[in-house]
Amino acid sequence: MPVKILIPTPLRSYAGKKDAIEVSAKTVDEAIKSLIDQHAELKAHLLTENGKLRSFINVYVNDEDIRYLQKESTPLQGNETISIIPSIAGGSAAAKPLAPVSQSIAEAAKQLSLSKEEILRYSRHLIIPEVAMEGQLRLKAARVLTIGAGGLGAPLGMYLAAAGVGTLGVVDFDVVDFTNLQRQVIHSTRDVGRPKLESAMERLKGINPEINIVGFETRLSSQNALEIFKDFDIIVDGTDNFPTRYLVNDACVLLGKPNVYGSIFRFEGQASVFGMPDAPCYRCLYPEPPPPGLVPSCAEGGVLGILPGIIGCIQANETIKLILGQGETLAGRLLLFDALRMKFRELKLRKDPECPVCGTHRTLHQLIDYEQFCGIPQQQAKEKEMSTSSEHEIDAVTLKHQLDQNEKIFILDVREPHEFQICRIPNSHLIPLGDLPSRISELNSADLIVAHCKSGMRSAKACDFLRKSGFTRVKNLKGGILAWSDQVDPSVPKY
Ligand SMILES: [Zn+2]
Repeated sequence: MPVKILIPTPLRSYAGKKDAIEVSAKTVDEAIKSLIDQHAELKAHLLTENGKLRSFINVYVNDEDIRYLQKESTPLQGNETISIIPSIAGGSAAAKPLAPVSQSIAEAAKQLSLSKEEILRYSRHLIIPEVAMEGQLRLKAARVLTIGAGGLGAPLGMYLAAAGVGTLGVVDFDVVDFTNLQRQVIHSTRDVGRPKLESAMERLKGINPEINIVGFETRLSSQNALEIFKDFDIIVDGTDNFPTRYLVNDACVLLGKPNVYGSIFRFEGQASVFGMPDAPCYRCLYPEPPPPGLVPSCAEGGVLGILPGIIGCIQANETIKLILGQGETLAGRLLLFDALRMKFRELKLRKDPECPVCGTHRTLHQLIDYEQFCGIPQQQAKEKEMSTSSEHEIDAVTLKHQLDQNEKIFILDVREPHEFQICRIPNSHLIPLGDLPSRISELNSADLIVAHCKSGMRSAKACDFLRKSGFTRVKNLKGGILAWSDQVDPSVPKY
C-alpha cells in the first residue's frame, strides 16, 4: 500500500534532505522499516537497539497517534500520511529552498550589508540555514506595512521589528484606551490617552533601533490606501472591521501585493495569505460582508486577550516566510484556530473565477466606498431613527431624579447575565434582549418601563419591540449604564 511519510525538519539531513518519502507498506512497522531501508542513517534516530520506536518519537497516521490505534501494528489501507513527530528543543535544520521568493526584495537585498552590531543582534537567525545572511539581508530590505496598532498589530509589529524587517510601516489613528491593555501588549498603562501610533512607534524603536519605522496617523480610506500601500512589499491586515478589511483586500489585489490576513473573535481566530499570484483573495472567500450588527465586534462580543497574540504571531510568521521565500505560506488555505479546544483546522481556499476583483471578468478596477458596501451608513440611519425621537428617551440624570421622587418605574436591563454580574442599576430587572419575546408576560404595560443596556443600542431595539407589542409607556435610557456611571453613580464600574 503506498503511503507518504512526512520527515520532520531535524531528521531531513538523514533522509536525503527530503521532506516526504513514499513507501509501500501494510502496517506502520513495515513503513518505518521500509523508510530505514532507504535511509539507513535514520535507524539510530528512530529506533532503540531493540528495534522499538524511541520514546521521544511519536508517529501519527493521518491525524491519529498510533499509540491510540494499534501502535506499530496499525494497519494501513494505502494513501495515508504518516507523520513522525520528534520532541525538539531548539534544534537546527537542513536547508530546503521552497516557495518563490519575492524577487524585488531579493534584488534590493543585494545592495545591503549588516553591521557588526546587526550580526550580533540577528545571530540566532544567521545560524539557521533557511535564514542565514541572505535571508537576514532580505528582511532588512523588506518593507512591510501593518494596518492597525491594536490587538493583532501589537505582536505583529513587535516580532517584525525584532526580526529586523528594515522598513516597518504602521497605520493607526486611534488613541490608547484603558480597555485595550488586556491584549494590546505594545502599549503600556502610562500610554493610556496617547495616540496608538506614537506609543507603538516608541516601543518598536525600543525593540530595534536599527530599523526604519514609518507612521501614518490616519484612517485608512479609499482616498489614501493606494498611495500608502505603493511603497511597501507586503501588507499585513490587523484591522477589526469589515470596511477596512475589504479595502485592504481590494487595494492589495489592485496593486499585486500580498495581504497577510488575520481575524479574531472570543476564542477563535483565522489566518491566511491573500493576493498572491494565482491564489484567492478575501473576496473569493467572502464575496460580501455580513450585514452590520450581525457579527459583533470585539468591543461588543469580547476577545480572549491571548488570541490576537497567537493569530498576530501567525501573521508575522507568514510575513517572514514571504520575505525569505521559504516554506509554504497560507496562500490558498484558511487556517482556523480554536483556543478553547486547542485545535487548528485548515480549509482549502479556491480562487473564484467570478470574483469581482481578482476573477476572470473583473468588475472592480478601482477602490469603492467600503462603508457603503458594508451597509454602515444605512445602519446608522436606522439607529438614528430608532433613538432620536426624544419622547422615547430618558437621560440618566432625569431617571435618577424621578426615582428619587419615588416615581414607580420598572427598570428593564436587557444585557446578558454576565454583564449584569459586572454592574447593575439598583432595583433593575434582567431580561436579555434575546429572551424578551418569550418573557414579555413578565412586564406590565401599565408600568412606566425604562430599558437600558451597556450603551443604549440593544435597549433601543428592546423599546422598539415593546412598542410594536402594544406597550406605550416605554423609554430608552440614553447612553445606557455607561451614562449612568458617568452622570449619576461613578461607583458603577464601566466595562
Ligand atoms: Zn478574489
